Amino acid sequence: MVIIMNPDATEKNIEDVMDAIVSAGLEAKIMEGSQQKIVGVIGDKTRLASVPVDAMDGVEKSVAISKSYKLASREFHPQSSIVDVDGIEIGGDVPVVMAGPCAVESKEQLFEAADLVKKGGAQFLRGGAYKPRTSPYSFQGLEEEGLKYLAEARERTGLKIVTEVTVVEAIDRVAAYADMLQIGARNMQNFGLLKEVGRCGKPVLLKRGLAATIDEWLNAAEYIIHAGNPNVVLCERGIRTYETYTRNTLDLSAVAAIKHLSHLPIIVDPSHGTGKWRMVRPMAFAAISAGADGIMMEVHPNPAKALSDGPQSLTPEHYSEVIEGIRKLSRFMREMGLAEQIG
Ligand code: PEP
Ligand code: MN
Repeated sequence: MVIIMNPDATEKNIEDVMDAIVSAGLEAKIMEGSQQKIVGVIGDKTRLASVPVDAMDGVEKSVAISKSYKLASREFHPQSSIVDVDGIEIGGDVPVVMAGPCAVESKEQLFEAADLVKKGGAQFLRGGAYKPRTSPYSFQGLEEEGLKYLAEARERTGLKIVTEVTVVEAIDRVAAYADMLQIGARNMQNFGLLKEVGRCGKPVLLKRGLAATIDEWLNAAEYIIHAGNPNVVLCERGIRTYETYTRNTLDLSAVAAIKHLSHLPIIVDPSHGTGKWRMVRPMAFAAISAGADGIMMEVHPNPAKALSDGPQSLTPEHYSEVIEGIRKLSRFMREMGLAEQIG
């Protein structure tokens, strides 16, 4: 349930409403709407039955939230959220780009990738040190050594680091090196992991599960927010369908759906979404046109030699072209007033 306060409600009115909610054994969260303050209520709302909130001073009305997720819903938080990752805003006017190799393979490979990612103008360097591979015989990642290279690449370039954490035991280690923690598709419903990243204090990039519905995905985000971390960014990375030409089916309609259902920023990963480097550019452009707050894409100094996901990794040349196109397209959309039409 959310309680919408009158635009002229006083601080005292808001405090009284929050006290009444807490006294009924529920949680209260205050949010700034565009015109008025909104108090969110979490917990069993039947406990509020004996509290006449609608009659309290300063209250305009109370509205029940119909969804199973609350904190992630737009009903709960009408204004779009901006997630700040150490000074870089995700969800603001300018789309962010997170680029880098699938995996950190060596210091040389990562530094080469980091330099070209930086040169192209991306804000984030991506790269897995813990790789969730389908086969146990595939390259599993350099683990802490990889994290150290990522931190060194940040020193070298100023790029923010986003990297995946696959197990609860590694959260503190990954958080010590990274600016943003990635929860991969395979772990989207690893609820223990979601709760712990919710407690760790670093912003989280939550990828959509391999076959997750939008409702399941937003409930996964709810776990993180409810555990105390509101800094969640969603990432559409394709879902499993009957199509075999592409690695996954990139669901760009999810961008519009999420914008309607949730206040959380959403970025799109056309690399994992298609599995084919040639499709990264058109799908990245389509994602920006659909209102995505950013793009995640894989780029490798030499994709033919990549230890994972070479076929979907851009060469340095193609990467420069794609990022330049993203920049032009988003500028065009802002200048033509199109961005706000789909916002
Ligand atoms: C990745 O980004 O490296 C990755 C493994 O992606 P996903 O979890 O979307 O498969
Ligand atoms: Mn990959």
